[in-house]
Amino acid sequence: MSGIEGIEGIRVSEAPEDLVVYGYDASGLEQSPALVAWPESTEEVSRLLKYASKRGMPVVPRGAGTGMTAGSVPLKGALALSFERMDRIIEIDADNLTVLVEPGVINAHLQAALAPHGLFYPPDPASLKTCTIGGNVAENAGGPSALKYGVTRDYVMGLEAVLASGEVITTGVKTHKGVVGYDLTRLLVGSEGTLAAITKVRLKTLPVPEHVATLLAVFKELEAAGKAVAEITRAKVIPRTLEIMDKKCIELIEGYKPVGLPVGAEAVLLIELDGHRQAVEDEAERVTGVCVKLGAEVRRAADAAERERLWEARRAISPALHNMNMHKINEDVVVPRDRLPEMLVYLAGLSESSGVPIVNFGHAGDGNIHVNIMASKEDPGHARRAEGLLGEMFAKVLALGGTISGEHGVGLTKVDYIGMEVGARELDLMRGIKEIFDPRGIMNPGKVFSIK
Ligand SMILES: Cc1cc2nc3c(=O)[nH]c(=O)nc-3n(C[C@H](O)[C@H](O)[C@H](O)COP(=O)(O)OP(=O)(O)OC[C@H]3O[C@@H](n4cnc5c(N)ncnc54)[C@H](O)[C@@H]3O)c2cc1C
Repeated sequence: MSGIEGIEGIRVSEAPEDLVVYGYDASGLEQSPALVAWPESTEEVSRLLKYASKRGMPVVPRGAGTGMTAGSVPLKGALALSFERMDRIIEIDADNLTVLVEPGVINAHLQAALAPHGLFYPPDPASLKTCTIGGNVAENAGGPSALKYGVTRDYVMGLEAVLASGEVITTGVKTHKGVVGYDLTRLLVGSEGTLAAITKVRLKTLPVPEHVATLLAVFKELEAAGKAVAEITRAKVIPRTLEIMDKKCIELIEGYKPVGLPVGAEAVLLIELDGHRQAVEDEAERVTGVCVKLGAEVRRAADAAERERLWEARRAISPALHNMNMHKINEDVVVPRDRLPEMLVYLAGLSESSGVPIVNFGHAGDGNIHVNIMASKEDPGHARRAEGLLGEMFAKVLALGGTISGEHGVGLTKVDYIGMEVGARELDLMRGIKEIFDPRGIMNPGKVFSIK
C-alpha cells in the first residue's frame, strides 16, 4: 500500500519485477513504467490521476496487455494504471438486456456470467479468455462475430471515466435510445487510453440464439475462397462468422496443434450460422451451394465438440506463429468485401517477390485480414525488407478503399502511418479534442499521434 502523499492507501509498486511485468503487450515492444498502481475504485483512480497530473507524469491505462499495437506499453517515467482489481460485474439487468461492469472484467468471464440468464455479449475477440472489457472499449475491439453482430462500439451504451484532472464524468444512457448532446460515449470508445481512464461500462446484451451450424469450406484456390465471401452475402446470408485461413496458416496450425485441417488446401473458410433452427438449416444449405459452385468441399461440424475443435484451431494461429521463431509484424488491414480476392492475390505475390513469408488469416466476412509479415530475427537485411513492405501494403489497402486497421488501433506501432489515411485537418481536430480532455498531455502520450 502506498504511503505517498495524495495516493495513500492505494496498492502501488516500484519493485523492478512489477515494473517489468507491466511494461509490455502482444506487440513485442517493452518499456518499464516508473510506478504501477492497482486501483480498486473510481475514487482511487481519480486520486492517482490528480497525483500524476500535478507532476506531469504520463499515465498508461492497462487492461490485460493483449493489445497488438503497444497501446499499454508505457513511455519512460510513466504510471501504469492496471485495472485488474476493478473486475466486478455490478449489475445484470436481464429485463432491459444490459449489464454494468468495471473495466477489468475479462471478456470470457462476462460471457460466463450472462449464460445462465440466456444472454450473451457479442463482441468476441479471439483473445477473449484474457482481454478485459476496458481494453475492448478503449480499442473498439471486434471479433469473429462482428460480421453479423458488429463491434464493441455497437454495444456500449454509456461510460464512467476519469479525466486527466481527476474529474469523474458519466456519458451515455441506460436506455436503448438517447440523443441528448454530442455522443461522448462513441468518442471515448476506441480512444486507446489517450482521452480518459474508463472506470465503468454499461453494455447491451442479446438473447443466446437457438441453433448454430458450423461449416468448414476447403478451397483448392485462394482466389475462389476470397470470392466465396462476397458471394455468400450476395446470396442474402449474413453468417455469424466467416473466417479465412490461408495455406501457410493451415500448415502452421497442423504442425503446432493438429486438428485435421486439410494440409495442401490453398485456403479454408470457417463459417458459422446462428438463429432459429429452420432458418439456420436453410442458410447452411445456401452457403454450401455457393462454396461448392466455387470448387470447394464443405464439411459440417457434427456436434459441439467438433465445433470447439475447429475454433481451437483458429485460436491456435497466434501461438503457432510464435513457434516460427521469427519476428511477427502483425497488421489487421480491412478492404471492402468484394476486393478481398484481389487483396489476397496481392499479398501472395508480395510474399513471393520479396522472399518474406506472409501468413494471412482473419475475419474475411468483414474484409479484415490479419497479415503477418514474418521477419528474420538473425538477418537484419531480411528484417529491413519485411519492415519495408508495410508502407507498400498500406498504400494498396487504401487504394482498394480500405483502412489500415480494423480492430488493433494505432497505438505506437502505426503512429508513422496514420497520416496515410487521416487528412491533416482531421488530425488537427483530433489533436484539438485531446487537448480539451487532457491539456497537459499526460494520458497515454505518444499513442495514436506522435508527441509534438
Ligand atoms: C491472441 C490474440 C488474439 C486477438 N484477437 C483479437 C480479435 O479477434 N479482435 C480484436 O479486436 N483484437 C484482438 N486482439 C487484440 C487485443 O486482445 C484487443 O485489442 C483487446 O481489446 C485488448 O484488451 P486488453 O485488456 O488486453 O487491453 P490492453 O492491451 O492492456 O490495452 C489496450 C489499450 O486500451 C487502453 N486501456 C485499457 N484499459 C483501459 C481503461 N480502463 N481505460 C482507458 N483505456 C484503457 C490501453 O491504454 C491501451 O491503449 C488479440 C490479441 C491477441 C494476443
